[in-house]
Amino acid sequence: MNETPMRVYAEIDLDAVRENVRALRARAPRSGLMAVVKADAYGHGAVPCARAAREAGATWLATATPDEALALRAAGIEGPMLCWLFTPGGPWRQAVEADIDVSVSALWALNEVRAAAQAAGRVARVQLKADTGLGRAGCQPAEWAELVGAAVAAQAEGTVHVTGVWSHFACADEPGHPSIKLQLEAFRDMLAHAEKEGIDPEVRHIANSPATLTLPESHFDLVRPGLAIYGVSPAPEIGTPAQLGLRPAMTLKASLALVKAVPAGHGVSYGHHYVTEAGTNLALVPAGYADGLPRGASGRGPVLVGGRIHRAAGRIAMDQFVIDLGPDPAPGPVPDGGAVPVPVRAGDEAVILGDAERGEPTAEDWAQAAHTIAYEIVTRIGGRVPRVYLGG
Ligand SMILES: *Cc1c(COP(=O)(O)O)cnc(C)c1O
Repeated sequence: MNETPMRVYAEIDLDAVRENVRALRARAPRSGLMAVVKADAYGHGAVPCARAAREAGATWLATATPDEALALRAAGIEGPMLCWLFTPGGPWRQAVEADIDVSVSALWALNEVRAAAQAAGRVARVQLKADTGLGRAGCQPAEWAELVGAAVAAQAEGTVHVTGVWSHFACADEPGHPSIKLQLEAFRDMLAHAEKEGIDPEVRHIANSPATLTLPESHFDLVRPGLAIYGVSPAPEIGTPAQLGLRPAMTLKASLALVKAVPAGHGVSYGHHYVTEAGTNLALVPAGYADGLPRGASGRGPVLVGGRIHRAAGRIAMDQFVIDLGPDPAPGPVPDGGAVPVPVRAGDEAVILGDAERGEPTAEDWAQAAHTIAYEIVTRIGGRVPRVYLGG
């Protein structure tokens, strides 16, 4: 029996994930690759994507939260793994016991890791995070000597092993931004200080997806891409996925719930922000903001139906939105140079986002329609949308 869910589902092509990891490794031939699989692999499914990334040669995996990393371990995924978003209380001990590298940006965190390591009777693997200019996580240059000193002392007492020194860019998605050079200089300085004090990190890393793609001098021992692994471009200025040698892994598909004729002057969806100009046929796409589609793309969000791109007519609602197929979706004379009209019926496939190379709308198109970034589009595809894996 075919159990494929039909309302809306996200096909995740794990071969695309593997190809993208290989393509990114080729961009950074002298570095290892740490695959970022936080936020359920940006909506693609953390466990299958982590496995696929490993199969394609990602030596490291990374998540934001310790719970995400622990879930990967619980699924049987071994090997080097880093997580960085801790709050006081941890869970440091579970991370240490699961052999997960933990990121430390401040003395309070180092002290909590030392205590957890002592309680576990293990040496904690710690990566020191430098704030080289992002102004988010990481240790400020002014506090760095103190943090490094405390880490060296913790190594001497045998509770901690410093495995990495790392940082994160603010503007790598804007190639040429003056902060990029300054951050690289600060990173080299902070690294040099740590090494002078006796820290000998296995891995030094700062390059996210845009830096992996555009900034070879940032590659160090590891590149640390997330979005690009899933075949999505970090920014339109950096290129389309095809230009970057990447292939989108997610295709979001729905099955039309209804096609019906309506008269001219008919309002469509909440608020009647779309009104039919003439008698026409409307189709109902059974996916909405509860599935992660941005309501901000109302009137603009694209969808491929019957060989043509249509735009959301009126508001995107919680569970559904409407497209206007035009007056006659039945076969007829082909207008000169025009697309062939095809009949569209309930049950026909609607591709909400996928690969531009197949003529489908993309995460980047939805980002533009909703005035946001493609990261947010894929990451928000919700828990109500089943993932169907290809290339398993
Ligand atoms: C999310 C994240 C990444 C990955 O960034 P991409 O732009 O998706 O490649 C890398 N490092 C840190 C600290 C992050 O938070």
